[in-house]
Amino acid sequence: MVQEVCVSPLLTEMHQRIERACAFLAVEPYLCSLLKSCQRELIVSFPVKMDSGDIQVFQGYRVHHNIIRGPAKGGIRYHPEVNLDEIQALAMLMTLKCAVVNIPFGGAKGGVVCDPHQLSPRELENLTRRFATEISILLGPETDIPAPDVNTDAQVMSWFMDTYSMHKGYSVLSVVTGKPLIIGGSQGRQEATGRGVAYLTYFITQEMKLPLRGARVVVQGFGKVGYPAAKILQEEYGCKIIAVADLGGGVVNEEGLEVRALREHVEKEKTVAHFSQGETIPREAIFDIPSDIFIPAALENQIDEETAQRLHCKLVVEGANGPTTEEGDRVLQEKGITLVPDILANAGGVVVSYFEWVQGLQSFFWNEEEVNLRLKLIMSNSFKQCFSLARHHDLSLREAAYLVAIERIGEAIKVRGIYP
Ligand code: NAD
Repeated sequence: MVQEVCVSPLLTEMHQRIERACAFLAVEPYLCSLLKSCQRELIVSFPVKMDSGDIQVFQGYRVHHNIIRGPAKGGIRYHPEVNLDEIQALAMLMTLKCAVVNIPFGGAKGGVVCDPHQLSPRELENLTRRFATEISILLGPETDIPAPDVNTDAQVMSWFMDTYSMHKGYSVLSVVTGKPLIIGGSQGRQEATGRGVAYLTYFITQEMKLPLRGARVVVQGFGKVGYPAAKILQEEYGCKIIAVADLGGGVVNEEGLEVRALREHVEKEKTVAHFSQGETIPREAIFDIPSDIFIPAALENQIDEETAQRLHCKLVVEGANGPTTEEGDRVLQEKGITLVPDILANAGGVVVSYFEWVQGLQSFFWNEEEVNLRLKLIMSNSFKQCFSLARHHDLSLREAAYLVAIERIGEAIKVRGIYP
């Protein structure tokens, strides 16, 4: 039986989007049920020794949505609001994302309910190593390969890789991606998601006849996705980044913000707010700044009916996973705003994670130029496929991307057959 009751709006919406795509493709009902369920879900509770000497118990999750097309691939999130429904939905997005860009992975996601900003480096390491051990029954380069997500980074991946390797007795490079270069990371991985967002922005604006040089861009979230996306759009495509917001507030300057200087400010102050080159605004006000392009690169459910009404832009490129609700989608469509969906727009990260995995397995490493070239080719082919399908059937790009993904996954399931 498939459980229909869920609390995460993102999971409900994923179900609706999958159902609509399945109906359009007229797939067999079992396929739709399969795609709306997760294959495996591991819930762990584990103790961590804190600096005070106290022991705290944390809860974590690792979910495999579907592994028909290859090993389970997906990030690890540390956030106080992590919950099982959210992780299920994010794992579903990963399966679809890997299928849209046609890389041989299934979808996974993991997370720990915690506020990493309240943990010392030692506590963060203890938590990470214990969580990696708890979910190690799933992990492995052929089975399940984590990567960074919200509030996790290359250091967290190093601890994951080291913990797994210690248990094995030898170094296993390809058990995680997004790790530092010195232990088998890939050139270009740190910027890959943002670079992919910038590529997709370029491809779609070419179609829209919207010149990127001088285009006014607003970015919500200035982390591993938002920062490189803003930097590449500014430095390589000549965009004007006029406003950026993060958890601590926002900053706006109609003349444009210098993205590298903003990053240096964030390194010191931990927020974009109070940057000397602009005017500080509350983080919520980011939706009220008129622009050409809005890039949500923070968390899910940010563009809902209300915030979509406030957005004045021509294009939304989803750097984050699930940033737009169904109602938000409807409002954007009514307002004639084009949207490039998450499973296409932010797939650059998992594409270069795939490159990192391949390089690690072969112990043969590529240079950054080669990585970026191959990334651009995959993103461009995937965009063209979704765009022409959307145009042909008069669909949104999100609907088209879901069709491409589900058709691919469905074919894989059919050709493998149902066991036993
Ligand atoms: P991150 O932790 O590096 O950065 C998150 C940023 O969002 C921070 O600047 C934070 O301050 C900001 N933020 C959080 N809540 C906010 C709010 N309410 N308003 C404004 N800003 C807020 O995380 P990340 O890796 O950049 O991930 C961002 C999104 O991109 C997530 O949805 C993630 O799942 C998705 N994503 C990440 C990758 C990746 O490679 N890291 C790949 C694909 C998709």
